[in-house]
Amino acid sequence: MQKETSEQSILERLADVSGLTIAVLDESSREIYVLNNNSICRNLNPDGEFVGQCAAFCGTAFQNTRETGAPVSFTCHAGLECRAVPIRNQQTPLVAIVGRTFVKADNYRIATTRAISGDWQAYPPADLFENILLTGPVSVIDKTAAKVENLLPDNIHVARGPESNVPQMATTKILKPLPVERPSEKTPVGQSNIVEKFNRELGLNPILTKHSAPNEPVPVDEPEAEPEIKAVAIPESRSVPAPAPNPTDKRTAEARAWRSFFGSLLKSDYSKAPDSILEFLALHYGFTALIWLEKKENRLENAATFGEMKNRKVRLGIASDDQRLIEALQNEMPLELNERTKEQSATDPRTMYLFPIGVGGEISAGIAILDQISEETIKKQIARICLSIAPQLEILQLRGKVARGDTLSTAIRRFSESLKRIDTDDLWLTLTQNAAEMLRAERASLLIYDEKTEFLEIKAMIGARTEPVAGEKVGTRVARIVFEKNQPLIVPDVSKTGLPPPRSDRNYKTPSFMSCPISIGSRTMGVMNFTDKASGLAFDRSSLDLFQAIAPQLAIAIDRALLKEKAGEFEQLSVTDALTGLLNRRYIEERLTEEIKRSNRHGFPMSFMMLDVDHFKTFNDQFGHPAGDDALRLVAHVIRETLRGADVAARFGGEEFSILLPQTTGEEAATIAERIRANIEETDFQHQGVTISIGIASCSMDLCTSTTIVSAADKALYEAKHRGRNMVLSFESMHLQPQNKK
Ligand code: GH3
Ligand code: MG
Ligand code: MG
Repeated sequence: MQKETSEQSILERLADVSGLTIAVLDESSREIYVLNNNSICRNLNPDGEFVGQCAAFCGTAFQNTRETGAPVSFTCHAGLECRAVPIRNQQTPLVAIVGRTFVKADNYRIATTRAISGDWQAYPPADLFENILLTGPVSVIDKTAAKVENLLPDNIHVARGPESNVPQMATTKILKPLPVERPSEKTPVGQSNIVEKFNRELGLNPILTKHSAPNEPVPVDEPEAEPEIKAVAIPESRSVPAPAPNPTDKRTAEARAWRSFFGSLLKSDYSKAPDSILEFLALHYGFTALIWLEKKENRLENAATFGEMKNRKVRLGIASDDQRLIEALQNEMPLELNERTKEQSATDPRTMYLFPIGVGGEISAGIAILDQISEETIKKQIARICLSIAPQLEILQLRGKVARGDTLSTAIRRFSESLKRIDTDDLWLTLTQNAAEMLRAERASLLIYDEKTEFLEIKAMIGARTEPVAGEKVGTRVARIVFEKNQPLIVPDVSKTGLPPPRSDRNYKTPSFMSCPISIGSRTMGVMNFTDKASGLAFDRSSLDLFQAIAPQLAIAIDRALLKEKAGEFEQLSVTDALTGLLNRRYIEERLTEEIKRSNRHGFPMSFMMLDVDHFKTFNDQFGHPAGDDALRLVAHVIRETLRGADVAARFGGEEFSILLPQTTGEEAATIAERIRANIEETDFQHQGVTISIGIASCSMDLCTSTTIVSAADKALYEAKHRGRNMVLSFESMHLQPQNKK
């Protein structure tokens, strides 16, 4: 603004009084003068990504208004209610967009969702929600728009501000111009008249509504500094006639007190607001019994109490969409409910004055006053206080939600960072630790369902004061229910539930716990239990929100870990022995079964031998385990080198080996065995010579299963040991002379 004009100050006052945005657009749709812009517009409008969408609404409305000269009513893509009006009687044609405010609770709920997890995520919440406008009755927008339209005298110059960033708005959608309610009077002359008249017509108490920027709470102005506002502060038609002797002074004091309170309200957070509002009303009006009600699901329920009602359980449970309540909200009067007493005593039944609080016809809270209010004007005054705090409370709630959204997204980011650093060795523990840290739980456990045992098996436990006893199913009682129902459970106090109490030796610090299922799609994999919140407080809805924010990542990490574990199992079961590179026992047993079947079917000969290193314990004892390992590797190498292509050698376990010799008779096997024995004996082992003993069994009528063959070979081996070691003995010849000599 280069020059202060009276018109501008009128616009300013209108924006100020109505709490709406007034944006003046020049002939090329540039915003040349914007008052009290909604921070959502301020962020989205100049941004490339949303410019098209903004243009489709504000731009199109501008175009229509320019062309038809008629006002246009619209709700934009961001859910903001707006009016485009021509500013009449001017040299340069100008259009004003008035409103940019939420009038429907649903619309700004959608806005928060978009900011938290939708397409507005990229905008810092502090910027996006810095100046949110919420308006109760739509008529305020219409009336303000009409004022703007007819306000300006002939020779208005709306000075151009610095070139705004707003790009030329495209006409992409034709909006049907809607008639806007016009004021009956012609444009008045003279600024003070205009202001007074407007304020009167708007029916707004500037003190109650002068809250254009929520982040800048209404300052406690000295009333003397604002004579005009003082004059119109409580318009006669709407105000509470203050009792004599000096109404103006009383009103000023009331206004000042209210303004001061209102300012402090916006500085606080939502959780503290109900108490301070009740306290304000109690102090200001001398009430002694107040209840703050809040919408939970579809009912209004007690959320805070004051005075006589303190610690009293009052069940009200009136539906938040009760027609009487909605009417009360519209009429700016309380719903009066008479107490039903059991004995119809002669004494007056108490009346409860229920003041609904809500925006856009949707009731979100209420104040119940149980003191007698005889003056209608006081009822009206409180109803109007409720009316004016409703948008502010929504803003506080919204801010809380955005802040929580912010905390959640930080938590998610931190959690996924921590997942990247997880060492696969202690993955279960690290996952549990990270989740517990996020939830500020001192103790946590991770239970995973084991398909084989059909139990929830403990994968990790942190913070336990006692180690779980082997085989003990810790936390499975409740976890099993959570797992089966696939529904989280938050228990603020376990002693107040029907659940069995925890074992005393667990020494839980708090009686609260939370148990959450971990699932991917319809598949539930396990349960995470959290106990002992570090703060000593109970787990609540916000703990669950936090868990649910990290749950998808947690589930994926767990699923991967389970897969890895399975792959690990395969590795263990897989064919190769890590130390020697030979095949393993499982493999050779499987092959043996196959070969026996083949042999039985086709009548092929087949032999099997068991080999065992002699006095290997002594070798280890003398030269150490690593030297023993080297020796085993060398034994395996010699076996491999000695065998033929079709023979299968395996490490059977420890220092025992086995060899499957398909299509090999006992005799042939004995020759090969002897070759192996001799080769080992001749091999130069690093510390000391090594010998082996070998037992052989061949397929026959009696030996035609893997178990019998293995056991026969084993018996032969045992016998070879018994006969002096470094020897080959076949089961068939066990009772004969040994086939070789030492
Ligand atoms: P025997 O001649 O009767 O077979 O006597 P032994 O000492 O070999 O018999 P025993 O079965 O009592 O001992 C086998 C030893 O083999 C025990 C263990 O220390 C050793 N051993 C088993 N597996 C391994 C291994 O993988 N590495 C090493 N270094 N030693 C092993
Ligand atoms: Mg042995
Ligand atoms: Mg041995």
